[in-house]
Amino acid sequence: MRIFAASLATETNSFSPIPTNRRSFEETVYFRPGEHPDRATHCTAPLWVARRRARQEGFELVEGSCFWAEPSGPVLQADYESMRDEILDQLRAALPVDAVLLGLHGAMIATGCDDCEGDIVERVRTIVGRDTTIGVELDPHCHLTQKRVRNADIVILYKEYPHTDFIERAEELVTLVLKTRRAEIRPVMSLYDCGMEELFPTGRQPGRGFVDRMSALEGKDGVLSVSLGHGFIQGDVPEHGTRVLVVTNDAKAAGDTLARTLGEEVRDKRGQWGLPYLSLDEGIDQAYAEPRGPVVVADPSDNAGAGATSDNTNVIRSLIERGCVDACVGPVWDPVAVAFCHAAGVGTTMNLRFGGKAAASSGQPIDAEVTVIGLCTDGRQSFGAASVRFGDAAAIRIGGVEVSLISERTQALGTEIFSAVGIDLASKRYIGVKSTNHFYAAFAPLATKVLWAEGGGSCPIDHRKYPYAKIPRPLWPHDDLPPGRLLI
Ligand SMILES: [Zn+2]
Repeated sequence: MRIFAASLATETNSFSPIPTNRRSFEETVYFRPGEHPDRATHCTAPLWVARRRARQEGFELVEGSCFWAEPSGPVLQADYESMRDEILDQLRAALPVDAVLLGLHGAMIATGCDDCEGDIVERVRTIVGRDTTIGVELDPHCHLTQKRVRNADIVILYKEYPHTDFIERAEELVTLVLKTRRAEIRPVMSLYDCGMEELFPTGRQPGRGFVDRMSALEGKDGVLSVSLGHGFIQGDVPEHGTRVLVVTNDAKAAGDTLARTLGEEVRDKRGQWGLPYLSLDEGIDQAYAEPRGPVVVADPSDNAGAGATSDNTNVIRSLIERGCVDACVGPVWDPVAVAFCHAAGVGTTMNLRFGGKAAASSGQPIDAEVTVIGLCTDGRQSFGAASVRFGDAAAIRIGGVEVSLISERTQALGTEIFSAVGIDLASKRYIGVKSTNHFYAAFAPLATKVLWAEGGGSCPIDHRKYPYAKIPRPLWPHDDLPPGRLLI
């Protein structure tokens, strides 16, 4: 048995002010064949898992290139094609193969292509033909298009948000692909369009229960895998929205019924899945009204993981102006300010301009006398089993407010984004994180309360504020709920 694996992934925010090119990938994650380290990253989990399973189960793995870029605007078409074609050329050179494993995020848009993953999977199918098994792992914040589902044999999404289960889902993908090759199963897929979009955090109800229910359905009655494609709010594409995907063992009718049943359940609970949002001031008021801290207050509007700049200053400015103490906020993406802090050294008090630089949605920069309280070089934060770079970083203190400044744009995932630069989270009343929900697994355990407050960044919480041109209409909550539809 000979299997090829590769990865090409990012999550495109159609409205992000940050351009994306090949260098954006190469500077974040770019492993050429054989260079993948012995640890998983989200989108490369199928390759990493297959490498281990190949040793254990005696099949041959041919490794292709792996690319990942932090979410930002559409990828330059020529650069997208160069990365895609690098992988396709590697696949051609590897032929014949029994199976192809692709780690794709699923919400990548290029300047000339709204469905990059559909394009990739279709081209892979053309190269390998119908007799080769194609298995794909996607992030639930994907556009679950018909083209990619029709051209793949098995598609599995992470179930958890925060995405703590990317390795487990990759293990399942490899298992199902191997079973298909051994003729033990014959996977068929059913895809149901819910006609809506919402956020589906799974640390709270009803999301938690829905994930448990999807998991409980698997492995019996011919059900091989169940996934909820949340969709990606900031992606302006024709197949935008929430979809249910069911993979059965040659039981298409039963899969169709289950996809419809689950899809209707999602629709019935619309408006209940998302997060309880406060205004910026309400977030600060409620955090300091708690008898004790720390209270973690997330700002989804400036989440780099959704394509925001992560340098909006509104929250920090409010905390300073209100004289708040025992507060910290991070990460603020500002490579220039980080370089100045490194040059000045720990303990230096100086005038610094920070934040508020990358776009109009960043707000105004803050000019203040700051004290440099901590530095780190080539910082990394943990996210489940993954390790995510945030580059050189610095912590500054302005009155009672401490700020984590980073040089490689990313959201708050692990507590290292603060601790690596010497910010003591346990002593804080207010911990402001620029993230929507991925912070939750690491930060909720140390918080007395978690709140979500809109900070005015480039990813507004009200989806109806985005200037969409391509999303399907009608679509809830932009319109009345249209009927659900079985697409495949
Ligand atoms: Zn995601």
